[in-house]
Amino acid sequence: MNKNDLTILLASPRGFCAGVDRAIEIVERALVKHGAPVYVRHEIVHNRYVVESLEQKGAVFVKELDQVPEGLPVIFSAHGVPKSVPAAAQARELLYFDATCPLVSKVHREAERHEKDGRMVILIGHAGHPEVIGTMGQLDKGSIVLVETEEDAENLSVEDPNNLAFVTQTTLSVDDTASIVKILMRRFPNMLEPKKEDICYATTNRQEAVKAIATRCDALLVIGAPNSSNSKRLVEVAYKQGCEKAALVQRATDIKWDALDGVKTLGITAGASAPEILVEEVIDAFKDHYNVSIEEINIRDENVIFKVPKTLLDTPATKD
Ligand code: SF4
Repeated sequence: MNKNDLTILLASPRGFCAGVDRAIEIVERALVKHGAPVYVRHEIVHNRYVVESLEQKGAVFVKELDQVPEGLPVIFSAHGVPKSVPAAAQARELLYFDATCPLVSKVHREAERHEKDGRMVILIGHAGHPEVIGTMGQLDKGSIVLVETEEDAENLSVEDPNNLAFVTQTTLSVDDTASIVKILMRRFPNMLEPKKEDICYATTNRQEAVKAIATRCDALLVIGAPNSSNSKRLVEVAYKQGCEKAALVQRATDIKWDALDGVKTLGITAGASAPEILVEEVIDAFKDHYNVSIEEINIRDENVIFKVPKTLLDTPATKD
């Protein structure tokens, strides 16, 4: 069978960020140090492949802390947790490791500081996402309000418009968030903003890398999970650049080959919780169907590394 030619534009940076690397390493080191099973509250990062690989090594994933048996270690996911979770773990004298990404913790501390200074905090984010639940859970209920959309920003009513600050989820669309902030700033000109952008470096870089290739692509695939916020944003960014055939796939088996009929240039990227092995799997699947040539477009080098907690520093991530 004659194969058609296909150019793959591979976005870079893509895939794992420093917070995801660190969270996975915490689980691996805890398994070496304490032996299986080690419990993990919530998916450590939003990716089935990662979760299943850790399950094979002895990690047990649960939704809530009360599912963790007495005396066994538990890890909190990279998305962060409400304050009530470590408090409950302490009350039960559980050994816990906090894999919250340091960039999410930074937002937590920011929000706390505003509350301490008597300000109402506006959190820009998506309801129900674990990071949003975690950030809301750093403050008393009356001190923080969630804004999801431009409409929410237009309709928000606050008691004291001169005593406000905003923080954001780390994995939002840079452009959509800027539009929401613009509305809030127009309505509440004295609102304080984060000293340093809350949307993290990894989210920003992956969106910029998609922007750099999307206009050249007939279609673009984002490798990532349907519950991964930063991955879903990458699909939206591609759409907004005019690449209408943009889709999320978890791995090669999700590729809808019929939908790619006539595509000559395909963009590929991966969300911050998707491992490179899945990118390779997807590219291999395309090589089976097409004569593939690959062009990697790197918009920026990343060299961010986050250390694991001190108590795990001396433990290797693997037994051998
Ligand atoms: Fe941290 Fe950003 Fe990665 Fe989330 S996407 S884990 S905030 S570096």
